[in-house]
Amino acid sequence: MYYSNIQIALQEVPGEISICFSICGCKLHCKGCHSPTLWKEKNGVPLTLETYKHTLNKYKGFASCVLFMGGEWHEPQLVNYLHYARKLDYKTCLYTGEDRVSTNILRELTWIKTGKWISELGGLDTLSTNQKFTHVQSNALLNHLFIKNH
Ligand code: SF4
Repeated sequence: MYYSNIQIALQEVPGEISICFSICGCKLHCKGCHSPTLWKEKNGVPLTLETYKHTLNKYKGFASCVLFMGGEWHEPQLVNYLHYARKLDYKTCLYTGEDRVSTNILRELTWIKTGKWISELGGLDTLSTNQKFTHVQSNALLNHLFIKNH
């Protein structure tokens, strides 16, 4: 698994401070993609277990959620990494362009954003979007949290 960057994200998971790992190797190639640099796996550097654990420990007590932007194409590693985050009491989220992911991945997630980027339909902050932000355990659709004055 190769990552492009690690950032603190305040908007992507409402109400949470997230450690956001942007993973390279996305095969969906959406038209108008915000980060085409994520398309080529080797544009990133390996996300080693050491780097991952170090990052999660560094932000413990400050960040509340671990967010992966992609990475579902490395299922066993993603499942292990999410599991480790949960052991440290982080909530977890995956942003994927797919409409669904495996049960193994879902089991480790608090929230999931599904659906590819279609510019005419807009993102989570529009009513017309094809994308869905869901609380996994309850299967509740939470897109309203992204709409201003909801
Ligand atoms: S899923 Fe996201 S990263 Fe992948 S091509 Fe679409 S917009 Fe870009």
